[in-house]
Amino acid sequence: MSDRREQLARALAALERRVSTAAAAAGRDRRELTVVAVSKTWPASDVVLLHGLGQHDFGENRDQEARGKAADVASLLRAVAAPGPLRWHFIGQLQRNKARSVASYASWVHSLDRPPLVPALSRGAQATGRELTVLVQVSLDDDPDPGRGGARPADVPALADAVATAPSLRLGGVMAVAPPHRPARPAFAMLRDLSQRLRRDHPAAGAISAGMSADLEDAIAEGATHLRLGTALFGTRARVP
Ligand SMILES: *Cc1c(COP(=O)(O)O)cnc(C)c1O
Repeated sequence: MSDRREQLARALAALERRVSTAAAAAGRDRRELTVVAVSKTWPASDVVLLHGLGQHDFGENRDQEARGKAADVASLLRAVAAPGPLRWHFIGQLQRNKARSVASYASWVHSLDRPPLVPALSRGAQATGRELTVLVQVSLDDDPDPGRGGARPADVPALADAVATAPSLRLGGVMAVAPPHRPARPAFAMLRDLSQRLRRDHPAAGAISAGMSADLEDAIAEGATHLRLGTALFGTRARVP
């Protein structure tokens, strides 16, 4: 076993214990939770190693890096007899002129936060002939930071309706990043409320993407279904992406 494979195997096992413990503490079934391994800044070889260890969902936040990595991973996996599924989740700030590219490799987009992205993603998904699952990213900040993205809570219903009616898009639910310098749990509780309201009109849109390496327990306690975890699996990133 290579050192890196061993390191990733240990991190995956430790993370699994953390997630299972948090799920049990919240009275939830571990099977309701999907870990998205956020591989930004890490090489395709790490993705292939983790995939071999049973990790199937990976997240990236920049189209340029993600597109190249997705292609590299696909070619590395062609050498594997029965590679099993691998899904890419796009979790970063999305530019309209990148929507087509993102739709070419991603199965999920967690970061839809403005109306013009809807037709752009829809056209991209139609061109690939696949359905793209889209989450509406919400800002939980009183003072939204355009750098982090996220729609205002009041704008979520209209965005959700637009996604739900766009060809080749499936409305999956909501996503948020906890605001910095504040306890995460009340912010995630707000996201859970928004999700409940969304599901009155869109009963199938039950996904809640919340929780990073530092706050996954709070996210699980407040109903998260998708955890976006980088540092806890890969280690500390050398550069801030
Ligand atoms: C980088 C990133 C993560 C993962 O953060 P960690 O703290 O490394 O777990 C999650 N969500 C988004 C949107 C990110 O950009």
